[in-house]
Amino acid sequence: MQAMPAPALWDISPAIGPGTPAFPGDQAYEQVWTARIGPGCPVNLSAIRLSPHLGAHADAPLHYRDGARAIAAVSLEPYLGPCRVIHALDAGPLVRPEHIAHALPGPHSRLPRQRPPLRTALGAAGALPARVLVRTCRRAPTEGNDVFSAFAPETLDHLADLGVRLVGIDSASVDPADSKTLPSHQRLLERDLRVLENLLLDEVPEGDYELIALPLRLEMACASPVRAVLRPLPAGSAVDAQASPVGGLMSSPVNGDGPAPPSGHPMDSEFDPGFDR
Ligand SMILES: [Zn+2]
Repeated sequence: MQAMPAPALWDISPAIGPGTPAFPGDQAYEQVWTARIGPGCPVNLSAIRLSPHLGAHADAPLHYRDGARAIAAVSLEPYLGPCRVIHALDAGPLVRPEHIAHALPGPHSRLPRQRPPLRTALGAAGALPARVLVRTCRRAPTEGNDVFSAFAPETLDHLADLGVRLVGIDSASVDPADSKTLPSHQRLLERDLRVLENLLLDEVPEGDYELIALPLRLEMACASPVRAVLRPLPAGSAVDAQASPVGGLMSSPVNGDGPAPPSGHPMDSEFDPGFDR
């Protein structure tokens, strides 16, 4: 089997600095030096101030509902494990189910029937990882931009129905910039989905990867920056070798702010360090 040359690691986090785009009213990045190396001082020390929504970040349920969990209280499993990157370029203001149907199990699927030889190629039909990242930009904007692609709420429902637990996007928000009701954020809450925003997916081909994007344990914050990376799936991972059929998977709002599920998915009750999905 011929391996295709591919990066060992895709860094999907944009750099953060004073020029990082922020939503109007959001705290831009500021940094001051509280100490500099000099006589009697052996170190440089910086202090930073920023919105936790700058750059690649994970929203906490607290971001969209008072009293909901801060980012330190959400479980880490959704941020670590097999993941599918799907391209929905030129989707327009909302990524709808049809824009990603080609890479999902179902009648419009263009997934290969057989497990492909490439670790980063799309997995076999039926084996959808529990994490889906959607690339909407040909080139991620480097300046603040009100015009971007967000998720249609029904797309989040569809992914949750397929067993997805984390969604990601390369735009600033899962809702349009001018939305006052944030229906997709509310849907994240209802379906107990975790989310990553502002990812940098410019160089990432469609395919299956391992995602590593852990939020900081900020006990009061409504979000956290993440250093998000993708790497090829480890050989022999179950998602690579065909997981359970999609019909057998269920969305699984456990430990969440949404309604309790009729029964928990095994994945929720214990963290399996293997790559089940
Ligand atoms: Zn956010």
